[in-house]
Amino acid sequence: MANIILLGPPGAGKGTQAKRLEETRGMVQLSTGDMLKDAIARGTELGRQVEGIMARGELVTDEIVIGLIEDRMNDGAGGGFIFDGFPRTLKQADALAGLMTRMGSTLDRVIEMQVDDAALVARITGRFTCGNCGAVYHDVTRPTKVAGVCDVCGSTDLRRRADDNADTLKTRLMEYYKKTSPLIGYYYAKGQLSAVDGLAEVDAVADAIASVLDKG
Ligand code: ADP
Ligand code: ADP
Repeated sequence: MANIILLGPPGAGKGTQAKRLEETRGMVQLSTGDMLKDAIARGTELGRQVEGIMARGELVTDEIVIGLIEDRMNDGAGGGFIFDGFPRTLKQADALAGLMTRMGSTLDRVIEMQVDDAALVARITGRFTCGNCGAVYHDVTRPTKVAGVCDVCGSTDLRRRADDNADTLKTRLMEYYKKTSPLIGYYYAKGQLSAVDGLAEVDAVADAIASVLDKG
């Protein structure tokens, strides 16, 4: 069992690879982005609080996401947790270390998914997901087999995110470089960082992650 972080800018392929790891290794994906989007869809108080911030592409407060992660970690890990889109600040990283210690658990690897900004624009503007099961698609690189129908669950509820436009992406990238990219140095210094080429094809990225995990 391993607990890992997938670290990378918006569009790096974190969600795509997290879903693969759930299928192949029985790991549990913890995506703060998905939890927040779910709160918005359900119209909860939290959803109302974060809606505008997310639409602008800014980060929500550390307290909110740390609370969400803490709740979900208490539900148990299966074959290990995949932290996807968390932590995004040094404060979140410290909070995660504290939660792990309290649970008598360890963070085993931080996988940095390296991509360049030009690829991110194309990835983000072509992304759509299944509203029912969360499967991730792309207009060009990963279309559904039958147009308008999810390959995994057959749902026709395919959605595009309101914040997946070139304008908001600029803010999201700025937030990433200012607040999240320092985590690369932080985990490198702790000896926990491994980098993979996120520009490779989905299967090749999955293989690279598998070899990092199997090395232990
Ligand atoms: P992406 O898949 O493009 O990396 P996410 O789905 O992870 O984006 O996140 C969408 C939005 O949710 C972010 O732009 C941010 O507003 C908010 N968010 C998600 N995770 C965090 C976090 N750990 N800290 C602060 N804000 C977050
Ligand atoms: P993140 O969770 O890091 O924001 P996603 O997994 O949602 O990223 O991927 C963003 C978009 O790029 C999606 O449309 C996805 O289908 C596509 N994508 C993901 N990985 C790859 C890859 N290795 N090559 C080409 N396209 C990819």
